Amino acid sequence: MMNKITILGSGTSTGVPILGCKCSVCQSTDVRNKRLRTSALIEFHDEKKVLIDASPDLRTQLLKTKIDSLDAVIITHDHADHTHGMDDLRPFCFRTQTAIPVYSDESAGKDLRRKFQYLFDRKKVFADRPILGGGIPLLDLEVIAPGSHQIAGHTFNFHALPHGHEESLSIIQGKLGYVVDCRMIPDETLKHFHDAKLEILIIDCLRREPHQTHLHLDLTLEYIQNISPKLAVLTHMGHEWDYLSLMSELRTRGTNNVFPAQDGQSFLYSNA
Ligand SMILES: [Zn+2]
Ligand SMILES: [Zn+2]
Repeated sequence: MMNKITILGSGTSTGVPILGCKCSVCQSTDVRNKRLRTSALIEFHDEKKVLIDASPDLRTQLLKTKIDSLDAVIITHDHADHTHGMDDLRPFCFRTQTAIPVYSDESAGKDLRRKFQYLFDRKKVFADRPILGGGIPLLDLEVIAPGSHQIAGHTFNFHALPHGHEESLSIIQGKLGYVVDCRMIPDETLKHFHDAKLEILIIDCLRREPHQTHLHLDLTLEYIQNISPKLAVLTHMGHEWDYLSLMSELRTRGTNNVFPAQDGQSFLYSNA
C-alpha cells in the first residue's frame, strides 16, 4: 500500500524570493525557484492526513492541495518558519468540531503553549469569557519523546537532531525519511535511517557553505550516500540555489538519485 507525501514548501525561513532581494534567483521567473516556507503533507492510503509543520505560508499551501480535513499535525520544532501558520488550521476544526492533535517534543511544546496560549490553554484563557467572533482552531498539544508513536493510526519514528539551541524531530514513516532543520546527524541516527531502506529521503540543504544550524550541500550529500535512499530530495533551500544550476551540479557530481525539491511536488512511498 502506498502513501503520498507532498512538499508544500521547500524554502528556508525567508522563503524565496526574499523580500527586496535583487539576486538572480530571487528575480528569476522559473517557478522552480519560488519556494514557500518548509511544510509537508502525508496522505495515507486509508485517507488519513498528517501535516508536518505549519509554515507561515500554510493557507496558500493547503489551498493548492484541495484537502478538506486533517487528522494530525507534527511540529518538528518551534521556529517561526515552522509554526506561525498554526491559526490557518481553523477551517478544518470548524468543519468537524473535533480537536486536531498537534504533536511536538517537550521543548517545542513548552514554547508552543506560550506562543499559542489562546489555542493550547484555551480552557484557561476562555474560562471566564466566551469566545466571540470568528472563533479559534481546536488544537490539542500532545507532547511526545523521540521514539516510535502511532499518529493517525500510523507508525512514526522520531529522532531528535541538533538545531541551534534547540532540537528538531526527524521522521521515519514507512519508507519515507524526513530531515529538516538540523546541523548534523549523529552516527546512531544515520544507521536508523539507513536500516529503514528508504524509498525517499527529504533532507535539509540550506546552502553551499557550512551553517551554524543547518546542513550544507557537501554534508547533505555525504548523509544521502550514507543513508542510501532510492531517491533523495533537497529541501529548506535558500536563494543561493538556482534550480537548474543545482540540478546540473548534482549530475556532474554523479548523484543521479538526488533532486532539488519543487513546491507542490508529490511522491508515493510504501507504507512499510
Ligand atoms: Zn526552518
Ligand atoms: Zn529551524
